[in-house]
Amino acid sequence: MNEYSKGLLWVISGPMFAGKTSELIRLYDRTIFANQKSIIVKPSLDNRYSDSEVATHDNRTRKSFIVNNIEELNEIVAKELPENVFIDEAQFFSSKILNVIDDLRKLGINVYCSLLNQTSEGHAFPFMDKKQDVSSLLVKADHIETFSAVCPVCGKNATKTYKIESSGNEVDVGGSNKYEPRCYEHWEPKK
Ligand SMILES: [Zn+2]
Repeated sequence: MNEYSKGLLWVISGPMFAGKTSELIRLYDRTIFANQKSIIVKPSLDNRYSDSEVATHDNRTRKSFIVNNIEELNEIVAKELPENVFIDEAQFFSSKILNVIDDLRKLGINVYCSLLNQTSEGHAFPFMDKKQDVSSLLVKADHIETFSAVCPVCGKNATKTYKIESSGNEVDVGGSNKYEPRCYEHWEPKK
């Protein structure tokens, strides 16, 4: 375990409500405990629960940098000089995140990302500029943790995100009012 070189890319992948952000925080806490310099970054688009902290669905929080644009991360890194960068909700940035992560890794910085791997329609989640999707990030990873939630219908592992009410927009930020996790059997894409 942890026998990776510097410049590690570690991805936490899965549907909504699977504990991805909790896992990101757990890994962040480990680096802090190991006296490493680490920062958490999240997109400003996701302003659920808190404006200045990264929050899980059960309200565990840590200070985070909220950026509008992933390229702002370069300025933060130049100032903070972290050994580890934790990116929450990576799917909500533009595809420029791929280059930004490549550059961080070349500097020897470890990058940990949590991401929603697929839309409620079951497609690879597109980055905000729609030029690429998260599969381009997943293939670059040294390590992928795939998390599942619990299907409220049958109690089995939920690997899908189900849209409760269709807003007509496949990529739609929201919490438990709009989405719930479902197993494959109880998930169906909304048209
Ligand atoms: Zn089910």
